[in-house]
Amino acid sequence: MPPKNLVFYSEELLLCGELDAIKQRDGEWIPFEARKSSAPSRTQPQQWHGYVLTPGAWYNDQLQVIGQMYLLRENSYLCSKASIYYRENKTHTIIKWNEECIKILETICKEINRISLEERPLPLKRSNKCIRCSLNTICLPDEVSIMKSHKQEGYARAVVPSRYDKGLVYVSGYDKKISIKEDCLVISSLSGDKQEIPIIDVMSVVILGTAQISTQCIQAIMVNGIKILFCSTSGWLYGTASGFSDKNLLIRKKQLNQFPNLDLAKRVVSAKIFNQRLLLRRKRGEVGNPVIEDLIRLSSQAMEIKDRNSLLGIEGVAAKKYFESFPDLITVSNIEFKGRSRRPPRDPINALLSYAYSLLCKDFVNAIIAVGLEPTVGFYHVFEKGRPSLALDLMESYRPLIADSTVLRAINTKTISLEDFEVTMAGVSLKPKAKKKFIMMYEQRMDTLIHHPSFSYQVSYRRMLEIEVRLLGRYLEGELNNWKPFRAR
Ligand code: SF4
Repeated sequence: MPPKNLVFYSEELLLCGELDAIKQRDGEWIPFEARKSSAPSRTQPQQWHGYVLTPGAWYNDQLQVIGQMYLLRENSYLCSKASIYYRENKTHTIIKWNEECIKILETICKEINRISLEERPLPLKRSNKCIRCSLNTICLPDEVSIMKSHKQEGYARAVVPSRYDKGLVYVSGYDKKISIKEDCLVISSLSGDKQEIPIIDVMSVVILGTAQISTQCIQAIMVNGIKILFCSTSGWLYGTASGFSDKNLLIRKKQLNQFPNLDLAKRVVSAKIFNQRLLLRRKRGEVGNPVIEDLIRLSSQAMEIKDRNSLLGIEGVAAKKYFESFPDLITVSNIEFKGRSRRPPRDPINALLSYAYSLLCKDFVNAIIAVGLEPTVGFYHVFEKGRPSLALDLMESYRPLIADSTVLRAINTKTISLEDFEVTMAGVSLKPKAKKKFIMMYEQRMDTLIHHPSFSYQVSYRRMLEIEVRLLGRYLEGELNNWKPFRAR
């Protein structure tokens, strides 16, 4: 039985590639590629850089399988042909290996080298190619075009799926062990419970507390391009573990050169204050409400500030006003909130807020690493050992929309009640079972679809975070003239 997919490297050509499907026939290994589209006519010549290729398959598809055949041969597999199948007109075309293939590959590698040294080209404009392109979630062609236009908003085709189809796996509790069995993560506990999750369905593994994970499991997670996030029991992110990535050096360099950045800091603080008003508006309406009017005024003032200390001052004044009104949003009578307290949280609401912010911070770190930026270097929060400053910067405008809103829902629906908290020397904290309930509510919130104000499509909060970080990356690279954090309407 040939494997489902294989990843190969060639040191000779510095080429690497993944073969999704391989057939084995008469001792030979045959790379197999399938396309949804139609094959070209067999009378239509196929050429690339002066090389005459096989008719009946598009030249770009042929270049791909030539690379695959080369990688198989380099790694001592017997391979003399590859197969391409076009579903629309049900056509099979066989591409045979010959001596010219090496020359073609050398030309390809030279071209790749040349292109990699140039500036990244701008995305195509409204091209149908983007609809099926596997890079569209990274490239964001319509979104970048809209952000580059003077209007800053418009209609983007929803080529980016609104939600992720993979999930986060949370493991909490000292008695849990994570191991690997074939292609599944196995989470077992001392009580004998066992749960298996196919690794293909996992986006990240979040370890809350001191659950154990085997070396084999860490290796499998890294090979599959998944991240492990190590957090304290209260959700504070200690760090992450992932496989090697060398593709982000340039963007990190640009980040280091441009941070700290007061202009970006003003935008996130202004957006945060603007979004805080949204929660308060739910209860009291907007017109004639002095707190909301103050918040709108402070949000505008934040954009006029000339230095970081004044910005911190405006943010502090807004936070005081916001949290003074926060108790109005709590509808249960036996839970009180007397202002924000951290390290340690002094009451149940503060414990929940701190826990929710930790979860949100962890999600931003995840998105930042996926985009290739450095999470510890922020534009507003100063550098401090072990602190994910960029994640703390970017989460500012989402605190009220995701974290505060989940806390209110948990309390007001009585999903979390006073019995779910414990008081220790370290302050008030959630009991382990309550954490599980709260994480589920938080994940539901992250999965909620909202209307993107700039691109007129529906997108989950989780996807929204990633789009925002990707657009920040484009801004740092100079591709966009502007970057603005999310403002709820
Ligand atoms: S999504 Fe980007 S990479 Fe893909 S075809 Fe469109 S412009 Fe090119």
